[in-house]
Amino acid sequence: MTTETTKKTEVGSYFVANYPPFSAWSPDYAEQVTERLNGAPANAAPVGLYAHIPFCRKRCKFCYFRVYTDKTKTDRDRYLDALGKEWELLGQCPVLGGRPLNFIYVGGGTPSALNEQQITTFGELLRKHWSWDDVEEFTFECEPGTLTEDKVQLIRDIGVTRLSLGVENFSDEVLKENGRAHLSPEVYTAYDWIRARDFSQVNIDLISGMVGETEANWKDSVRRAIELSPSSVTIYQMELPFNTVYSKGVLSDGEDSGVADWPTKRRWVRYAFEQLAEAGYAQSSAYTMAKPGERAGFVYRDALWHGADMIGTGVASFGYVQGAHMQNLDSFGPYVESCERGELPIYRGYSSTAHQQLVREMILQMKLGKLDGAPFSEKFGVDIFDRFADGFQALEREGMLTRENGGIRLTDEGFLQVDACLPRFYEPEHQRVRYT
Ligand code: SF4
Repeated sequence: MTTETTKKTEVGSYFVANYPPFSAWSPDYAEQVTERLNGAPANAAPVGLYAHIPFCRKRCKFCYFRVYTDKTKTDRDRYLDALGKEWELLGQCPVLGGRPLNFIYVGGGTPSALNEQQITTFGELLRKHWSWDDVEEFTFECEPGTLTEDKVQLIRDIGVTRLSLGVENFSDEVLKENGRAHLSPEVYTAYDWIRARDFSQVNIDLISGMVGETEANWKDSVRRAIELSPSSVTIYQMELPFNTVYSKGVLSDGEDSGVADWPTKRRWVRYAFEQLAEAGYAQSSAYTMAKPGERAGFVYRDALWHGADMIGTGVASFGYVQGAHMQNLDSFGPYVESCERGELPIYRGYSSTAHQQLVREMILQMKLGKLDGAPFSEKFGVDIFDRFADGFQALEREGMLTRENGGIRLTDEGFLQVDACLPRFYEPEHQRVRYT
C-alpha cells in the first residue's frame, strides 16, 4: 500500500475523523453503548459536549452533513426543546456523574442560523443542564450571511470563546457555483462585528479545490484571509463523499464534478501554508495554521484526538464515551420524538477494543504532525513504533515522515496527504471498505 491517491477527485471519503470507520458501527451495539452510559467512568478523561444544529439557509452542493433547509421557527423551537431534554437525560447518566465539561463545540448545519431568541434559549439550556466552571473553550460555527450585529453580541454573551467562520472562498462566482448561501460582502460585514467583540479566538475556514476555483482566485482568497488576521485559518481539501449533489451527478450521469484534482489541491494548500507562515502563523495541525501565543490552542480538537470523552447531542451526532462510539438517530422526527418520550435518541454505536482505541488516538494525533511513543506506552502499555513498525517504515520510505528524538515527524508532503497515510494502520477488516 502507498499513500498515492488517484490524481482525480473520485467519489468517496478520504478525510479520517474516527476509527473504526463509521461503516462498522451498528444498531447491534446500541445496548452496549447504553450500558456504558449507565456505568461508572473507568478513567478520568476530560469530557466535552458537541451540539448539532442542523439548519442551513441552503444546501451547499458539496455538503454531506445532516442538514435541513425547510424547517420553520416552530420546528426549530421544538428541536431546541428536544436538545434540552437530551441534555437532561444525559445528565442523569452515571458515566457523566457530574463530571464538569472541559469544552463545548456547537456545529452543524449552521448554529448561527438560529434566531436571536433561539440563541438565548440555547445558552440558557446549556447553563441549566451542564456545569460550566471548567469550560476552557466554547466554539460556535457561523455562516457569514446569517449573522447580525445583535446575534454576534448574543453569541458572545452566552459564553462563546472561539467563533469559527465558514468563509470557504472569497470569490462570489465560486461561492455561487458551489451552492453557498453567502457572498463575500457578507464576510466583511460580519467580520467587523466579530472583531468588535472580545472573542478569544476567531477561526476562518477555507476549502481548496472548490468547483470553479482557479490558481489566481485561490491566491486571492488566501491573501484576503490573511488580511483579516484571524487567530487561525483552517483549510480543507474538497472531497466528494457519497450523498453530495456533486457526487450524485458523478454517480448517476458520469458527470465531471469539476473539483480540482489532488495534486492541485495539495499545491494550493501548500501555497496557503507558506503564505500564512510568512505572515507569522505556525502549523497547528494538518489543516490549521494559528497565530502563536496563548490563544493558539484548539481544546476540542486536541482533547478529542487524545481520547477525551465527547457527548454528541442533536440529530445524527457522533459521540465517544469511555471507548464506546455512538451516533444519534439521524432524522429530525425520530430524534425529536425520542427525546420527547424521555428516551436517549441513540441509533447505533461501536464498542471498541483497547487496540482500536490505541489506533484511533495514534492516527488522529498524527494529524498534529508528530508522534512521541512515551504517552502511548504509558496509556496503553504498547510501543507503537514496534507494533506498527511496517507502517511507519513505509511512510518514511515514501517521504511522508522522518524520525526525530525517538519519535516521528510528518514532512511537508506528509502534512498535505495525512488522511491517505492513516488507513494503513487499520485492522485488515477495516481496510478498503467504505469509510462512512
Ligand atoms: S453551510 Fe455547512 S452544513 Fe450547511 S449546507 Fe453548507 S456545508 Fe453543509
